[in-house]
Amino acid sequence: MPDGVLQTYPRPLVDQFGRQITYLRISVTDRCDLRCTYCMSEIMQFLPKRDLLTIEELDRVAQAFVARGVKKIRITGGEPLVRKGMPELFERLGTYLGNGLEELTLTTNATQLADHADMLARNGVKRINVSLDSLDPDRFEKITHRRTLDQVLAGIEAARSAGLRVKINTVALKHENVDELREIISWAHARDMDMTLIEVMPLGETDEDRIDQYIPLPMVRDALEQHWTLEDHVAVDANAGPSRYVRIKETGGRLGFITPLTNNFCAGCNRVRVTCTGRIYMCLGQDDHIDLRAALRESDDPSASLDACLDQALFKKPERHEFKIDRRGQDPALARHMSVTGG
Ligand code: SAM
Ligand code: SF4
Repeated sequence: MPDGVLQTYPRPLVDQFGRQITYLRISVTDRCDLRCTYCMSEIMQFLPKRDLLTIEELDRVAQAFVARGVKKIRITGGEPLVRKGMPELFERLGTYLGNGLEELTLTTNATQLADHADMLARNGVKRINVSLDSLDPDRFEKITHRRTLDQVLAGIEAARSAGLRVKINTVALKHENVDELREIISWAHARDMDMTLIEVMPLGETDEDRIDQYIPLPMVRDALEQHWTLEDHVAVDANAGPSRYVRIKETGGRLGFITPLTNNFCAGCNRVRVTCTGRIYMCLGQDDHIDLRAALRESDDPSASLDACLDQALFKKPERHEFKIDRRGQDPALARHMSVTGG
């Protein structure tokens, strides 16, 4: 058992609405090698590297959460695999598996995945999410502003060969890929990969108008039902809460829908997010946060200060998000990019 991790959780992280926090997402960088049009602008300003938590600090934060009952950790970004030190971080976090932590996972754009797939499997990662919005090289380039589809597909194959289960996440974009979604779903299901569709969320300024990109997923579902039989299927993942899936009779695969705007999913929320600069965000759709970095760097007793931050964060976790898309497709209250908070 690593130092500082308790066998039992004398003070589980239960918020004022009775929800227990068992799922932590950690963003390890705000940088990325792609420029998905709905996520960031081409001339994105990144944070100075000194502002980022070090690998050791990220580990300490993870350890503090595991000691309070967190069972699942997802590493995300920006693009997590462009940050140096990922093998060291996964090696450290992998030691908590079986010692309180039940699942260690990753969300990635897969451009660097071929180089890291074996390392992930070696450190106990079993499943990962890969974001992919088109299988057509030209469209992929239009959406991500980079011509790296081949690298991404090679990364996915490397992960599958290393024994990782891969789920494909696709943002539904009104003009860019909505007519391709059936093809992407068929491709994923033919390779035994689950797939999730995501609605564009109003996070951060980009170069595009989100109203032009946004399509409600119920419309997508109706269109899919013109061709396929969608059977309701609730997959209960003990660590992530219930996810709404359908099983597509014709492909035999599962399809999830993440619909933050058309459907509110907050009642069962069991997660918090820590940014690469050490802010705890209790809700993706709210701006309230607690700064862990000061507790780590300036306190005489960092463990106690970290623990106190967790209590404050719990107290502040709101009942629900309040996303709204205005005429420019932005939520005026949410200047933060998804790449900063971590998707
Ligand atoms: N770079 C990695 C990737 O793309 O998988 C991890 C970070 S990315 C911010 C995590 C997820 O957030 C991706 O699936 C991406 O498609 C999604 N995302 C980013 N900005 C979004 C937005 N404004 N609305 C909806 N999803 C978004
Ligand atoms: Fe990068 Fe992921 Fe944002 Fe795309 S969605 S720009 S891959 S962080």
